[in-house]
Amino acid sequence: MFRTLALIATVSVLLTGCVTSSPPQSEIPAPTQQSPTATAAPVPSTPPPPTAVAAVFDTTLYSIDEADSLWVVVDKLRRLSPKKYVPKSLTTMNVPHAYTPILRRDAAKAYLKMFRAARRDGINLVVQSGYRSYSSQVSVYNGWVASIGRNAADLQSARPGHSEHQIGLSVDIAAANRVCTIQACFGRTPEGKWLMHNAPRFGWHLRYPKGKTSITGYIYEPWHWRYVGVELAVELSLTPKITLEEFFGLPAAPNYAK
Ligand SMILES: [Zn+2]
Repeated sequence: MFRTLALIATVSVLLTGCVTSSPPQSEIPAPTQQSPTATAAPVPSTPPPPTAVAAVFDTTLYSIDEADSLWVVVDKLRRLSPKKYVPKSLTTMNVPHAYTPILRRDAAKAYLKMFRAARRDGINLVVQSGYRSYSSQVSVYNGWVASIGRNAADLQSARPGHSEHQIGLSVDIAAANRVCTIQACFGRTPEGKWLMHNAPRFGWHLRYPKGKTSITGYIYEPWHWRYVGVELAVELSLTPKITLEEFFGLPAAPNYAK
């Protein structure tokens, strides 16, 4: 009698186990290769297993060497190749600007989205400077050298062939009221703060964070934003003040090679 009851109890437990949504550990499916930024709504009837973890970010998705690549890393040790590289899909944006607001088409689309979102929040952004050709970088860099000397110029202006502005994916942003334009205090303006909080979700990364001169070779530039795509920008934003050099395990580039 007791054995019969015990058997019934066992069968009952087994049956109960069959209808619960908690399979044994060995049957829990492996986490899917889902991006940490994916926002797909979970299906109520099949919640993800409690052991699911975010997939490791694939740092090899795009080249960091090719000038055309969304993730190309340009710094004082990584000159563009070819050095007079010109992006294929440059486009002029119809937005408030100080100098003609030209960017690569994908970056331009992302800037427009961000510009409109900012405006909805009462934040009025102006493009101070977008794409600059090799020859215009020659003029910009030489102008800095003439006014503040070569050493100081190298801390805030790239030598031609080493500028992120030449890839058409970087933009210097200012406030419509012109407060703190191209100055560190821009980071404390409503426009600068809005960008810090919101730019990553539009694909923009703060390329020269505060306190990272020994890695980037540049002073803190809260106005200089680099388009890397939403996936990477959001991933980067998880680590405050991280640089592309640190993220991709590249050597620090405080100075040009001799
Ligand atoms: Zn810049």
